[in-house]
Amino acid sequence: MTLRLFGCVCGQFHSPGAGMGMAGDRVSVPIPFYVIEHPDGVALFDCGLPAAMCDREESYLKALQTQDLDVSLTPEETLTAHLERLDIDPARVRYAVISHLHFDHAGGLRELPNATVVVQRREWDAGFERETSNKYGLRKRYFDLGHQVRLLDGEDDLFGDGSVTCIPSYGHTPGHQSLRVRSGQGDHLLVGDACYHCGVVESRWFADHADHVAMNRSLDALLALRAPETVMVFGHDPAQWGDAPVLPAARA
Ligand SMILES: [Zn+2]
Repeated sequence: MTLRLFGCVCGQFHSPGAGMGMAGDRVSVPIPFYVIEHPDGVALFDCGLPAAMCDREESYLKALQTQDLDVSLTPEETLTAHLERLDIDPARVRYAVISHLHFDHAGGLRELPNATVVVQRREWDAGFERETSNKYGLRKRYFDLGHQVRLLDGEDDLFGDGSVTCIPSYGHTPGHQSLRVRSGQGDHLLVGDACYHCGVVESRWFADHADHVAMNRSLDALLALRAPETVMVFGHDPAQWGDAPVLPAARA
């Protein structure tokens, strides 16, 4: 079996366009996560929204709505529903590599009982430190769930064969990381919220809460990693999903 990479959209995020560095009063952007089937086990990169957000009454969703933000999630879009369509039992997911601890990236962890969470140490520490967790909006209820945790200090070769590499890309949050996946499908750089969408490569628009100096440095470093054939997959780019998704969603 060779490595297979899938992309799944786990709901949509709705915000003022200005909150995403996009034109328009109101924009809706996809919330993707990624599934890697490797001969040594299944790894996810991010895990989408918490399934509890299918319920419009979920408490944190209510809190977001007071800030002019909203998400939508249907039962068909949850992490578990996507994995089932890929014939993957959530209980056999070996690694949940998390770009960062925001609820729309770590939210699905509750659905992965046996996964080892793979995260940068400085992100995990920030999540438990009162001031940084408040500043960056890192909510323990979505990640402090008793999983085994593998803390990284920089780059890491996940399976030891060079196919899947964690790459630190700090700035959006203190320990944000990206993932490079090399497979028969090509060379993919999953950059998460180091770059929300294609336009940010030029505009360098970053969220208010973020460390802009670090974000510029991280984005420059990610761009420098690209080979001519590399496909960059952005954190929340409507143009990469929809009718012509940048990655397949399920086995053909
Ligand atoms: Zn995000």
